[in-house]
Amino acid sequence: MTQEYQNLIGGRWTPARDGRRFERENPATGEPTGSYPRSGPDDVRDAVCAAQDAAAAWRRTPAPRRGEILFRAAEILVREKERFARELTGEMGKVIKEARGDVQEAIDMTYYMAGEGRRSFGQTTPSELPDKFAMSVRAPVGVVGCITPWNFPMAIPSWKIMPALVTGNTVVFKPSQYAPKSACNLVKTLEDAGIPPGVINLVFGEGAEVGATLVEHPAVSLISFTGSNAVGRRIAMQGAELGKPVSLEMGGRNAIIVMDDADIPLALDGVIWSAFGTTGQRCTAASRVIVQAGVYDEFAERLVQRAERLRLGNGLDERTEVGPVVNTDQLHKIDAYMAVGRDEGATLACGGATTNVGDLGRGYFFQPTVFTDAKPQMRIAQEEIFGPVTALIKVGSLEEAIAVNNGVPYGLSSSIYTRDVNRAFRAVEGIDTGLVYVNAGTIGAEVHLPFGGTRGTGNGHREAGTAALDTFTEWKTVYIDYSGRLQKAQIDSE
Ligand code: NAD
Repeated sequence: MTQEYQNLIGGRWTPARDGRRFERENPATGEPTGSYPRSGPDDVRDAVCAAQDAAAAWRRTPAPRRGEILFRAAEILVREKERFARELTGEMGKVIKEARGDVQEAIDMTYYMAGEGRRSFGQTTPSELPDKFAMSVRAPVGVVGCITPWNFPMAIPSWKIMPALVTGNTVVFKPSQYAPKSACNLVKTLEDAGIPPGVINLVFGEGAEVGATLVEHPAVSLISFTGSNAVGRRIAMQGAELGKPVSLEMGGRNAIIVMDDADIPLALDGVIWSAFGTTGQRCTAASRVIVQAGVYDEFAERLVQRAERLRLGNGLDERTEVGPVVNTDQLHKIDAYMAVGRDEGATLACGGATTNVGDLGRGYFFQPTVFTDAKPQMRIAQEEIFGPVTALIKVGSLEEAIAVNNGVPYGLSSSIYTRDVNRAFRAVEGIDTGLVYVNAGTIGAEVHLPFGGTRGTGNGHREAGTAALDTFTEWKTVYIDYSGRLQKAQIDSE
């Protein structure tokens, strides 16, 4: 029988008020993986209420104590890593090695933020007046709503929840309906580590019902969202109307630049990993490869050979290199782009179809696909496809490569392969994305550095690193006048 999971509200695991449920299936096999509450607005309101009730005690809990709970959660994640990784692959499809990486990222973030319990530094600075002390301290924002996608179901929630908690906020977490079990595993871990009731609340369900209610709720002080541009833009407009800060991480259309002087085998490894890892369903996936004319033909030929050899299958099989895509909608969306690319005049050099061979017929599999002869303005080079598809674009110079790299509405990740240090630094300077890699693919973020994108990808916030603390805290500036008389800043010094 399908296992039934519940929401966590105020420390109690509870069904949706009206008893509705939804099922999730394994995208590789179609088998059911769990049944979850299909929550409605009332469940969200209950969760926000619980988070409000817990807020005063949690913000008074010393930050090092909050950090200790996170540290214990990290220790549990380490112990449960293999189980959590297997369950993660089972519900969203990524290959098991990458699922372990996803859980590892949550472990890294949880340890890192546990340490912030003893840092979260502010500043002290001399006052312009005598007998006066000036400092800045971080204060929690209150109740935080975290809304997350399915493609990193452990890592992305941890990027939001851990910094929010260590800085003294309480959380209502709405995970993607396509990866609910991993969300449950993460929240249960925090509960087992001793987080007080109501400090973290979990509400399963649809975006339009649960997510939208969370965004609109007046007691939610901040929304931290990762997902598509369509939904993110909508949340931005709601936030503007409500005067509510929103931190947005959205789509990407990332590129790897391969210069004539590149180490070609190394660049090929980088493109294969960045374009087809997680079946191309990473916000940082290399969905464009910008190749200088001198090596274009050789590179295209070798890339197609490598892509054709990739082994598709169930991600739980250690030999699988490319798993399924997440659901049928995604499969159809990717398939529809094949005709778009051909109609625009690109060459479909390999892949280009769903695949039903043997056991693959039970899941949502799409062949690793390479378009060659793509032009920068084609839709297949501009729009986020979010599947195992990459487009090769030929350029003449570094300047042209940088212009093509920057000529999309997104600005998340870029990479350049070159052996020339001058070119590498010129690229780092000229590329307009939040992440830039030299002689490495477009993926591979580490938790102690800021993560996020420019232009259409973000709205100026960054996740991870100490930058995350800026999202989840307000600066409070404190002046202490111990002169015993009225001192007037800007005026007494005249
Ligand atoms: P999505 O936008 O469909 O959903 C994201 C979350 O928003 C889900 O939990 C969903 O239920 C919820 N949601 C949907 N409608 C809502 C509404 N009206 N109000 C509030 N919440 C709502 O995205 P997805 O398909 O889950 O994820 C894929 C997308 O996420 C891609 O575009 C990818 O690039 C992006 N992504 C970005 C980053 C990044 O850091 N920039 C990281 C991972 C994924």
